[in-house]
Amino acid sequence: MKVSVTPIGKFDLGLAEDICIGVSKVIPKVECFVEDFSIDLPREYYNPIRGQYHSTMLLHELESRTRASTSHRILGVTEVDIYVPGMNFVFGEARLPGRCCLISTFRLRPELYGLPRDRGILLERCVKEALHELGHTLGLQHCPLPLCVMHFSLNIYSVDRKKPDFCRNCRSKLERFIEAI
Ligand SMILES: [Zn+2]
Ligand SMILES: [Zn+2]
Repeated sequence: MKVSVTPIGKFDLGLAEDICIGVSKVIPKVECFVEDFSIDLPREYYNPIRGQYHSTMLLHELESRTRASTSHRILGVTEVDIYVPGMNFVFGEARLPGRCCLISTFRLRPELYGLPRDRGILLERCVKEALHELGHTLGLQHCPLPLCVMHFSLNIYSVDRKKPDFCRNCRSKLERFIEAI
């Protein structure tokens, strides 16, 4: 299964490469790479009152801009804060099932919570959210087990509590979904 990571707006490419490595270690039979282009952030999806971008609109943009891609799954990565109406923010969003998903690093950075910058912590959180959203694109729903990467994360504490891996049940479903691609 070929997975491409596509920056939306400016993005730390070293971090994108490391997210690829993290994803490849956990999802079986995956070949993950960073695209050599990025998608411009559409200003019309920016909500100046909220100071955030509309996540679902960014997902649409990602889908329409990557139609010609031969990748099986596309993970958009962005540094901007994203939301869906009715929620203060989201860490990411996915088409379930579908081809595209995206994650935002904005609320994964320790410095947002008054802590020093820490690339290791940031990367681990990014990998968890990438696995979670890619899991959705492959057909996985939310998992009731709090340590499973498919558990819904309402805040950063629940992201940190999760392991960067699928529980046995989710993994066996995931393997079946990947076989079917
Ligand atoms: Zn989810
Ligand atoms: Zn699970």
